[in-house]
Amino acid sequence: MSTFEEIQQREKKVLFQTYARYPLAAVRGKGARLWDSEGREYIDLLSGIAVTSLGHCNEEVTRVMCDQAATLVHVSNLLYQENQVRLAERLLTTNHFDKAFFCTSGAEANETAIKLARRYMQCVRRNGAFEIITFENAFHGRTLGTLAATGQVKLQEGFAPMPEGFRQVPWNDLAALEAAITPQTAAVMIEMVQGESGIRPVTPEFAKGIEAICRKKNVLLIIDEVQAGLCRSGRFWCFQNFDIKPDIISCAKALANGLPIGAVMATDEVAQAFPFGSHGTTFGGGPLLTAVADKVVEIMIRDQLDKRAARLGTAFLARLREVACKHPDKIKEVRGLGLLIGIELTAPGKDVWLKLIEKGFVLNLSHDTVLRLLPPLIIDEADLNAFADALDEVLA
Ligand SMILES: *Cc1c(COP(=O)(O)O)cnc(C)c1O
Repeated sequence: MSTFEEIQQREKKVLFQTYARYPLAAVRGKGARLWDSEGREYIDLLSGIAVTSLGHCNEEVTRVMCDQAATLVHVSNLLYQENQVRLAERLLTTNHFDKAFFCTSGAEANETAIKLARRYMQCVRRNGAFEIITFENAFHGRTLGTLAATGQVKLQEGFAPMPEGFRQVPWNDLAALEAAITPQTAAVMIEMVQGESGIRPVTPEFAKGIEAICRKKNVLLIIDEVQAGLCRSGRFWCFQNFDIKPDIISCAKALANGLPIGAVMATDEVAQAFPFGSHGTTFGGGPLLTAVADKVVEIMIRDQLDKRAARLGTAFLARLREVACKHPDKIKEVRGLGLLIGIELTAPGKDVWLKLIEKGFVLNLSHDTVLRLLPPLIIDEADLNAFADALDEVLA
């Protein structure tokens, strides 16, 4: 096997240089542990960005993956597939929606949600509405449509022109939202916890207020659950923390614990906007992906991983806040919901982040100042406490 330096040099030669990679090459994983090319062991507090929620190489998931790989991997959405039906049935027991559509990524799920909202307005209500309202610092993906929804100038640089029909309003400003809605507005789209931009949960008032405005103005409410969904927030779906009922949700990341699958769910009222031939995708919800996702969802429900995320998250947040109290000059704020946790530093944190990697923790640094933690939901509390101790040491 190649050394880390060899892998680094080969990568530079042949891969698009789109990623500022971490100083390690992962070769093996088990549960919350990762091992790199040099044989070093890490506690994984990133989970492939909120993907491997059941831990690496979960035995039950691996068994389903192998069995299904030997039975049927892909056909086409032109054929009936019971695995897809079974996954939809199970997913729909976790929320108030009636129908599901499967695709292959978060961006594609959001793109689908946007298309669905527009088509609902244009073909069911026949009012011609098309505009999607999103929030500052949102992240909805990197296809052109979702990049327009994301709205961040930094991410859009060089990709002009953006598709039309998107408008952004400030976070936590209900008056601005209400003022932005016009007869052309089709939907409001939001992450209940802004993930990529440093773990910013909505306040309960903001969440309830958004729902009330959408109802009053008769526009759809789309919740992007790509990162926060599937138990991570302490409820099965993040919106369920806020006692609201969106019209459409998108999800992806953790759905098949590492295989690429996304989903959109909606009420029957909205789902009727996609009749035969109006939307589709080649890989979406194939037999292998849906067999694995069905096992993932089954385990999440059976093991009540939502409750586990809530319990671990509450304890971990409290522990991190103790560390923050000891270092008020270094830590500005600790925030989060369930096992979506952000530690905002008072200054750019690249050194702190690198030292934590050296100490054996894989985690993300978001927007230069926020240590972002998305541990697997099966992690032991001892691993989280070990991180808190390590952070305390690094900051001392
Ligand atoms: C990751 C993410 C996306 C994009 O998902 P991809 O699978 O990378 O396309 C969209 N929305 C949110 C909230 C995300 O965290």
